Amino acid sequence: MKCGTCCTAPDISALRKPVGVKCPHLGADGLCGIYVTRPSVCQSYRPDEICLQINAPTLPERVANYLQLFGLAAETQRDQR
Ligand code: SF4
Repeated sequence: MKCGTCCTAPDISALRKPVGVKCPHLGADGLCGIYVTRPSVCQSYRPDEICLQINAPTLPERVANYLQLFGLAAETQRDQR
């Protein structure tokens, strides 16, 4: 799947990736550039009903929906100050 939302919206400590920042390994094609060696947190991820709740046509829209759903929008704005 070429969604990319969970490679962008949540923080991923194994990658030192903050909330709302796109993983450097997420390609423009929406695929993981290090798929075979991606961290275990990424390997164990499974799509669920959240995917349906945040679904939107574009990655920025899906990320915004995710951040709003989990109450992380304010944290993203704080990080960007
Ligand atoms: S390592 Fe790959 S699967 Fe994990 S967040 Fe980055 S692009 Fe996504």
